[in-house]
Amino acid sequence: MDAEQLREYGHRMVDFIADYYKTIEDFPVLSQVQPGYLRKLLPSSAPVDPESLDQVLKDVQTNILPGVTHWQSPNYFAYYPSNSSIAGFMGEMLSAGLNIVGFSWITSPAATELEMIVLDWLSKLLKLPDEFLSTGQGGGVIQGTASEAVLVVLLAARDKFLHRVGKNALNKLVVYASDQTHSALQKACQIGGIYPENCRMLKADASTNYALSPDALTEAISHDISNGLIPFFLCATVGTTSSTAIDPLLLLGRIAKENGLWFHVDAAYAGSACICPEYRPYINGVEEADSFNMNAHKWFLTNFDCSALWVKDRNALVQSLSTNPEFLKNKASQTNMVVDYKDWQIPLGRRFRSLKLWMVLRLYGSQNLQDYIRSHINLAKHFEGLVAQDPRFEVVTPRLFALVCFRLVPFQSDLDLANKLNHELLDAVNSTGKIFISHTIAGENHPALQAAKSTDSESNSGI
Ligand code: PLP
Repeated sequence: MDAEQLREYGHRMVDFIADYYKTIEDFPVLSQVQPGYLRKLLPSSAPVDPESLDQVLKDVQTNILPGVTHWQSPNYFAYYPSNSSIAGFMGEMLSAGLNIVGFSWITSPAATELEMIVLDWLSKLLKLPDEFLSTGQGGGVIQGTASEAVLVVLLAARDKFLHRVGKNALNKLVVYASDQTHSALQKACQIGGIYPENCRMLKADASTNYALSPDALTEAISHDISNGLIPFFLCATVGTTSSTAIDPLLLLGRIAKENGLWFHVDAAYAGSACICPEYRPYINGVEEADSFNMNAHKWFLTNFDCSALWVKDRNALVQSLSTNPEFLKNKASQTNMVVDYKDWQIPLGRRFRSLKLWMVLRLYGSQNLQDYIRSHINLAKHFEGLVAQDPRFEVVTPRLFALVCFRLVPFQSDLDLANKLNHELLDAVNSTGKIFISHTIAGENHPALQAAKSTDSESNSGI
């Protein structure tokens, strides 16, 4: 690599990106292109001779940006936040610049050690139990996504159980969660070989504000035990994807403990808010959890991807995921003095992702991060108030964080018609390109949900 060319190109790329941010509101926030648009605009094979950066940037401006949905636009309100920041961006740049592949401690000691330290910092900000700190038997690790996080802990729990009860018992292992849980759990079960008929997605409806009922869990566990099945994994969510419902961790955790289940808490979105003392009570009971996950790439100003996972027993991950071929053996690993993160995740290779989280924590500080969370929640409260004042609309589920679920007030009780009208409104709003919002269906008995379920076994999340 020619360092001077890097400097020149790097400066021009930063200028390009800075200009993009300056003009981001000029673009329709939701891309308005049609499927296949890009193939018509780009050549069908790669160039034989090198092209200039100017030519490439011109193509980005003319052909790529129209096909971008602008997640960083202030007019983007869909799905969940995925906020980048200057600090996160700097961390990404540094990580790309160093471009290490830190699967074992020896492959870049700083990458492993910084990750351990930064996740300890974040754990302390969230006031997680000390067992999640890397100084004991547990520790934190950065996964790419919450989906990978739930997968690795499900595999760890599965193997821990199978080790105890025998490999042939896989068809007896049962997973529990509410039907509001993200479909990532379902995918983890599919990959982990959990039998589909042993995945209990327990109904959570308006009567519990879409939270998992401890009574329903107890009943399901007793029923399964009496049928000779083996309850082994409970996934609770703090801030469900559809409506930010909060499963009652303390009560659920106690049930998990009494029955010997691995207890995972998915706080992918709402976990970030828990650095504020006033929102921390939402994860009370996390002391009972075996693992806890929040996505710093959602609501913590850390550029995608950065999903923080903590476990109390890191050996459980290692026992399930470790491989030790000759070519990876080294003194440090063999003395057991170091963490080799390759054994805590699915892939071997891993990026230096802790740099961006470290930059975010250092360049902003926890006070500013708390204020940032509060400002989002205040904006959501303001919007909720505006909806409440408008007789055409209603807020459908309690607003706890920065998600407001609202709809057109259904006239008469024709839910199908109400659903159709809400969809038409959503499409009309999104087609303007001025803002981008997304939908869900709350409520198990909704006819539209039943219809969707019969064609699509995914969860009822609109995401
Ligand atoms: N869990 C919850 C509660 C979520 O809201 C989401 C994404 O919306 C996920 C898991 C999946 O996140 P990821 O894309 O990081 O796998």
